[in-house]
Amino acid sequence: MTSQRTRDRLVMRLREGGIRSDAVLDVIRKTPRHLFVDEALASRAYEDTALPIGYNQTISQPFVVAAMTELVIAGRPERVLEVGTGSGYQAAVLAQLVSKVYTVERIEPLVKLARQRFRQLGLRNIRAAHSDGTAGLPDFAPYDAIIVTAATEAIPEALLDQLAPDGRLVIPVGEREGQTLTLVTRTEAGIERATLDPVVFVPLLSGIS
Ligand code: SAH
Repeated sequence: MTSQRTRDRLVMRLREGGIRSDAVLDVIRKTPRHLFVDEALASRAYEDTALPIGYNQTISQPFVVAAMTELVIAGRPERVLEVGTGSGYQAAVLAQLVSKVYTVERIEPLVKLARQRFRQLGLRNIRAAHSDGTAGLPDFAPYDAIIVTAATEAIPEALLDQLAPDGRLVIPVGEREGQTLTLVTRTEAGIERATLDPVVFVPLLSGIS
């Protein structure tokens, strides 16, 4: 179920799907995804699929986590902000590749659970905040990269403001039914936007609960 073989199979699948970074694939192999879902779903944790985590939210599909992580680390960031902690899995993956991860979540019980998981795994370079990520996390800005794991039709201005020079923002942009993964880069000339693969994320909502 959570054997090395099922993890190796997942990594092989991600590689075949086009994930090229060995650093990312190694971290995915090492990270116990089964600890980020309910025990009842642990046997499915190494399938390449999104799974429910309660509160109408999901842990993202491993392929999407790997692809977004690849995009983020290509800019060699040190400090990364994630909007949408959810289970904490994406933050845990990033924390093994960069020096500091800030992550924000609007649903308080999810923040608490994620913090417990980070502690259990000894990931001390993650700071998890209960707040509305449409405002970013101004106290610790700017960030070398920002990753948003919830979908929006319009990129929140605060996130662009909190990007360091040459910083990268990876965000699913589009309607509720489906979005396009978008890479926004802040350069001296201004903001550059590149559209990538189609994705489906739960919506970015305002306010906290
Ligand atoms: N990255 C997560 C999956 C994210 S699911 C993981 O690895 O498990 C998207 C998450 O974004 C949900 O938990 C949802 O509550 C959260 N979210 C939605 N709008 C938000 C906002 N404005 N601020 C912070 N979190 C938000």
